[in-house]
Amino acid sequence: MVANSQVEIGLTLEALTDGIVVHGRLCADWVSECRRCLRQLSGRSETEVQELYQAVVIDPDAYPIVGEQLDLLEMVRENLLLAVPVAPLCTVDCPGLCSQCGADLQTTKCGCSNKIADERWAALDLLKIDESRPTTE
Ligand SMILES: [Zn+2]
Ligand SMILES: [Zn+2]
Repeated sequence: MVANSQVEIGLTLEALTDGIVVHGRLCADWVSECRRCLRQLSGRSETEVQELYQAVVIDPDAYPIVGEQLDLLEMVRENLLLAVPVAPLCTVDCPGLCSQCGADLQTTKCGCSNKIADERWAALDLLKIDESRPTTE
């Protein structure tokens, strides 16, 4: 998801015998949401581009030159889609939403018995049992 607001483009064109190479840097602000808690996120992505335009498209990755014009829109759009995070997280350890009541676990302790949490505690309980087990030779 790329915000419509601002895309900065700095491109250099280089003529080849069989086409034009467009290279430079794209910069865009984006808004998205955390994939776990759906909190709104925004950021800025930069990407280097190097793309080939050809009047007669021979290279399968080349963009067509139509009527002696370079249509940058499609190229810019495709590169930005690759540059922005597809499924960002607000923080790397975002606890997300409670699977039962939907509470935001980052700010709320809802008290539901969460399945994942249960498994973690079960593992801890096993550890405790192991540690307290008397060592017999
Ligand atoms: Zn989050
Ligand atoms: Zn809950």
